[in-house]
Amino acid sequence: MNSRILLLEDDPAIARTVAFALEREAFVVEHVLLMGHAQQRLAEAPPALAIFDVGLPDGSGLELCRSLRASSTPALAQLPILLLTARNEEMDRVLGLELGADDYLAKPFSPRELVARVRALLRRAAPRPMPPAPGLFTLDEAGQRVHYAGQALALTRLEYGLLRALLAAPGRILSREALFAAVWGPHSDAIDRTVDTHVKTLRAKLRELQPGLEPIVTHRGMGYELVLPPSASQVR
Ligand code: CA
Repeated sequence: MNSRILLLEDDPAIARTVAFALEREAFVVEHVLLMGHAQQRLAEAPPALAIFDVGLPDGSGLELCRSLRASSTPALAQLPILLLTARNEEMDRVLGLELGADDYLAKPFSPRELVARVRALLRRAAPRPMPPAPGLFTLDEAGQRVHYAGQALALTRLEYGLLRALLAAPGRILSREALFAAVWGPHSDAIDRTVDTHVKTLRAKLRELQPGLEPIVTHRGMGYELVLPPSASQVR
């Protein structure tokens, strides 16, 4: 099993603490100090998970997050990312989740908490049993892919998580809190705006393939619901 973790952190003391905590748990840690070097290593050998500091001498962990989520390489577009943010940088935290980070830790953090978050992210990234999917959608859990009306959707890991949660409960209204927890895990704070942002991009991708259909319905103040038109239920 690939347990290699790429750590991008320009503060040597923090990097040492993080690397020590993870290596004690049998993870293999590759530490780089610069964003440029991280980009190079990510392209050469995608790790199982990446930890990015936000403030870096040659850029920002947020930028790197955004560029990875736009990548056409699934191993990078879906790479579990944990952000390390400076204390009280609320903007970085919210922005980080919007740009596609899976979780964040505010400095200072305990090494034990960091290891727990890493384990949770890797567990979530692992393939799970396939829940039943309606005919219009075909869910490929092992490949973390969804086919819509017979065509593969190019989804980020987070969009995939959102759609997977909706597919598991067709006809039910899922609150933003429930969707947030399904994608980011129950320990995260619910941030409506983050869910809305990803639902919006997911809708745009669905619309591209089927302009006439709007299968994700907004319930104001409540959440989102997947509504399948009866005529389309046989489309594969
Ligand atoms: Ca830094």
